[in-house]
Amino acid sequence: MPLLLLLAGPAASAEPIQHSYTVTVDYLMSRLWVEARFSRPVESVIAGSRDAGKFLLDVRGCSEEQQIRMRNQRMMLPELGIACMNYTVDLARAAMAHRFSKTLAPENIVVSPAYWMWRPELRNGNSIRIRFRLPETMQVAVPWKKLSDDGPVFVLEQSPESAYAPVVFGQFDYREIQVPGAVLRVSLLRGIDEMDNAAMARWVRATATDVSLAYGRFPNPSPQVVVIPVGGSRSNDWSAVPFGRVIRDGGETIELQVDQSQPLEVLLADWTATHEFSHLLLPYVERKHRWISEGFAQYYQNVLLSRSGAYDQLYAWQKIYDGYERGRQSRPELSPNEASSGSVRAGLMKVYWSGAAIALMADVQLRERSGGTESLDDILDRFQACCLPSNRVWSGPELFAQFDELASAPVFMPLYKRFADTAGFPDMSGIFERLGLAVSDGKVHIRRGAELHAIRDAILETDHAAAEWREQLAAN
Ligand SMILES: [Zn+2]
Repeated sequence: MPLLLLLAGPAASAEPIQHSYTVTVDYLMSRLWVEARFSRPVESVIAGSRDAGKFLLDVRGCSEEQQIRMRNQRMMLPELGIACMNYTVDLARAAMAHRFSKTLAPENIVVSPAYWMWRPELRNGNSIRIRFRLPETMQVAVPWKKLSDDGPVFVLEQSPESAYAPVVFGQFDYREIQVPGAVLRVSLLRGIDEMDNAAMARWVRATATDVSLAYGRFPNPSPQVVVIPVGGSRSNDWSAVPFGRVIRDGGETIELQVDQSQPLEVLLADWTATHEFSHLLLPYVERKHRWISEGFAQYYQNVLLSRSGAYDQLYAWQKIYDGYERGRQSRPELSPNEASSGSVRAGLMKVYWSGAAIALMADVQLRERSGGTESLDDILDRFQACCLPSNRVWSGPELFAQFDELASAPVFMPLYKRFADTAGFPDMSGIFERLGLAVSDGKVHIRRGAELHAIRDAILETDHAAAEWREQLAAN
């Protein structure tokens, strides 16, 4: 009996295990073969996308008697589980699922593991060691932890899944770029038109460095950055950086789509990259509280661009003020939690700016209470030290409770309780008044001698060394 109990015991009590995958790609990037060896027999494997079955060409267990069948695009494993399997994926077809497949040069493809990686769920510290066997001229870029410097070997661990992570195969410009506290793993993809990769690398470095002006280092020591040249393909909504996003899936990826025809100075004046990098100051927050992640990124994007000298202070306050006004006008009958819940499509500006209002309130409260010795930067600094990068999804209240633990007295949960489920938008006129930010006809003016003028100036204070460095970078 004791033996039986032991066998049936919950997996949670077991030591973490590491499975081992070998991934082979042919030089035409038409096929991908996986050999998966499991440290303990697994009863089910699953792919991130429901469409993965469409790209699967064949699958078998490593021994004769272990048959694997497909049903409804799902792999059906033998009841006793399997210790090993081999499968083949139609890589060329899977690559077409990526929405920029047509704007990329044929030398490189982007294929999310959601379409080609079949694996057990990774709970309780379990992981997969993935080794790539690639033709000599082929590179691969992934968001997973890098295991060694002498070959493409990585470790995939449990993580949130906010979207499908990009994995890049082929010939492209891969660089490891140092910024304070981190080495960015940057892939500059090849588009159909030429791109000035040296300028792109400088832009990524400068905007990621902006984020280190929050507390001295970049929040994730080794994120993946993927730069996709899209030309002027979105002519109706022109911008040097038409789109950016953070993808949390097997690690953190910042994806930036750029109009590669734009010069470096235009890219450096665009806020998108700073906004996306700022998202990494927080972990992945569940969708119904995403006004917190968006709001903190909006707040910090303006704060950091001012500290780095890209914005002057008055311009940054104007941007913050304008944002709050857009937030106020956006679906006033909804609370931030309702606007974020996903069932309501409008209210985007409420989602983007409610959290930015709360970030400013928290920052001012922290600074005022401590006589300037504690700020929102300090709380985020301590939060990074305890909790980032995080392998899971956080709820808004859980995050704010953690912030309060890290602060000398609670600030965040009281603000959450007051505003998260309250319709309308926080009234910021009192705080603007005390900071010495007067508004007439929608224009912000800085008033001398205001009660909290020192706090106002400290929040956006330009870091002159950083500003000078950024200017030199743009000039070279
Ligand atoms: Zn955002």
